[in-house]
Amino acid sequence: MIWQRIGIFVLGVLAGSMLNRFISWWPNHGVYGEFRSTCPHCGHPWYGLEQVSLWGRLFSEGRCQYCGDKVPLRHSLVELATGVLVLLVSFRGKGTLDFVRLFLFVLLVVPLFFIDLKHHRLPNILTMPGIGLGLILSAALGYMKSALSGVVVGGGVLFVVALVTRGGIGMGDAKLQAMVGAFLGLRHMLTSLAIGVLLGGIVGLLLLVFQVRGRKDMIPYGPFLITGAILTLLVVS
Ligand SMILES: [Zn+2]
Repeated sequence: MIWQRIGIFVLGVLAGSMLNRFISWWPNHGVYGEFRSTCPHCGHPWYGLEQVSLWGRLFSEGRCQYCGDKVPLRHSLVELATGVLVLLVSFRGKGTLDFVRLFLFVLLVVPLFFIDLKHHRLPNILTMPGIGLGLILSAALGYMKSALSGVVVGGGVLFVVALVTRGGIGMGDAKLQAMVGAFLGLRHMLTSLAIGVLLGGIVGLLLLVFQVRGRKDMIPYGPFLITGAILTLLVVS
């Protein structure tokens, strides 16, 4: 049993190192084009275990083998977050298909979280197929209706907010919340939205009070919505 869990964690970490490739590749696509794991400092391709930054951090000081520069912390955070989240959802014990659903959900929200944090964008290339995938898996698990209402209500509410506020919340957030609805269903989508809005409000207020950010600075909302969704699926659902 313990080996099975360790296997699942390692699977998550390896998936996380693939996600790192995507997160580095996405902002430059069309410029560099190539979807491979390379050192952000010297550009040398990484092979085999060199691509798993957690491994490097544990056994070789977390430096690139070719230029000796430190591999950015983000690489390890993505791997660790993916590994831990995949492990946590595996404890739900609601069957293989349910695990597949939540595993894929984690693989979608981790890159969305980190890309929105840095670039203030939620790529359609993840959210749009994510909505379709969530609907298919929810239908296979027998709650198509709840998932469809989740997409319509989650996407619809934030679409209206995005239109009214013109900034702050964007269309990317609406598509993200529609995806959360597709994977988690209407009721859990609403819970996750409430947690996300609350978290965003609290953190936004703290950033203002401590003058880390000004009133006009843009704070990406995706990471809060994603945290709300993760907390909902781990604690509430
Ligand atoms: Zn290097």
